[in-house]
Amino acid sequence: MIGIFLSKMYELVLEYARGDFTAQSSSKQHKRGLVSHVINQHARCKMRFGLQVLAQLTSTAVSLRTAARTAAVVGGGPAGALTAVMLARRGWQVEVIDALPSPPAADDPSWGAGERSYQLGLNGRGQRSLRQFGCMQRVGRFAASVNGRLSFAQVGSARGKPGRDAEAIPGTAFTETRFKPPGTPGAEKTYVTRVLQRDRLQACLLEELAAGYAAQVRVSHGLSCVGLDLTGERPVVEALPCTPRSSEAEECEVDEAAQCRRRAYDLVVGADGVRSTVRKAVCSKSGATALRFADSNERRYKTIPFHPTAVEGTAADLNWGYQNKSLGLGMDALPTMEGEMVGVLLFKPLCNHICNHIWSACCSSSLSL
Ligand SMILES: Cc1cc2nc3c(=O)[nH]c(=O)nc-3n(C[C@H](O)[C@H](O)[C@H](O)COP(=O)(O)OP(=O)(O)OC[C@H]3O[C@@H](n4cnc5c(N)ncnc54)[C@H](O)[C@@H]3O)c2cc1C
Repeated sequence: MIGIFLSKMYELVLEYARGDFTAQSSSKQHKRGLVSHVINQHARCKMRFGLQVLAQLTSTAVSLRTAARTAAVVGGGPAGALTAVMLARRGWQVEVIDALPSPPAADDPSWGAGERSYQLGLNGRGQRSLRQFGCMQRVGRFAASVNGRLSFAQVGSARGKPGRDAEAIPGTAFTETRFKPPGTPGAEKTYVTRVLQRDRLQACLLEELAAGYAAQVRVSHGLSCVGLDLTGERPVVEALPCTPRSSEAEECEVDEAAQCRRRAYDLVVGADGVRSTVRKAVCSKSGATALRFADSNERRYKTIPFHPTAVEGTAADLNWGYQNKSLGLGMDALPTMEGEMVGVLLFKPLCNHICNHIWSACCSSSLSL
């Protein structure tokens, strides 16, 4: 009986020791030291693991479990919002800070039009992660399924070569490939790709946080992390209010005149995207380095809504694709749950005549990929 109790206790201690303890005070550091010391002892001689030490460890473990560990997640995009779910499930108190305003609710009618945000394809691995953290059901309600590919490329070009099962669409140069359903003989994939706008995925995850973790997770929008102070015992996030440059903009204007908000946390997570302020701050203040690979295929993008519902019989459950190598142009469009398509036109930034044409036709939200 006591053997079972001891081994259970030891598991408990190991569980805490494996956890990411943060040194908040010298007394906590002492406790942390005690745990690792006892584990080393135990590895050397299990039999000497005395009841007295166990009793001490029990109280240490319980106090560590009850101490609220605090985390700042900088960036409330798909990665940041899901990280907040994961931390909340482990008992952390979390503040998510995002520079931009909250996206419309996932069931807002504006999503159906296909005008807002590019689409993300969720493959089997992405769906599995969302399922693991209890978010896939909500995301699935707003995601369309992609059952194959509709290629607008001329037959003979690299992407236009019809696949084994591609069928020519009569009266056009286009081809259509439909995937076999997962689980059927010869199926190409073990999952059906689900797609939804990046901002709508973010809306789903933020709603998941509000519905399931409101007591633990606070989300602050319109607040930009402008730096980190790493000189103290705990990292301090420095943040300023900010407003988007325009209704479509992905960047925002920081209010430099406002008072800088400074708040300390046990843990800071940088989920603030490709131009991460957190990464820059950590590198400049701690001597850490970030390895960035040279971008040999820089491209810009412009989202273009298509409205297949306007043309009867147009397939809206496929990935529409077009590629023209000589012009350096590519286009991929994915369906919304409502049956419209969001296209992303990709082009090289130095291809002036195309850039100028696209810019003057529809100027604006571009981002280097
Ligand atoms: C055109 C296009 C198509 C794509 N297609 C796919 C696809 O099909 N499948 C796929 O998996 N991926 C795709 N991606 C990539 C995908 O969008 C990114 O991998 C994903 O959005 C990364 O999520 P994230 O949360 O890390 O960062 P982001 O989505 O970039 O979110 C970062 C968040 O941090 C906030 N932020 C930034 N700086 C600060 C700051 N200083 N303070 C506070 N907040 C800040 C921003 O407001 C934003 O909300 C595509 C990308 C593009 C551009």
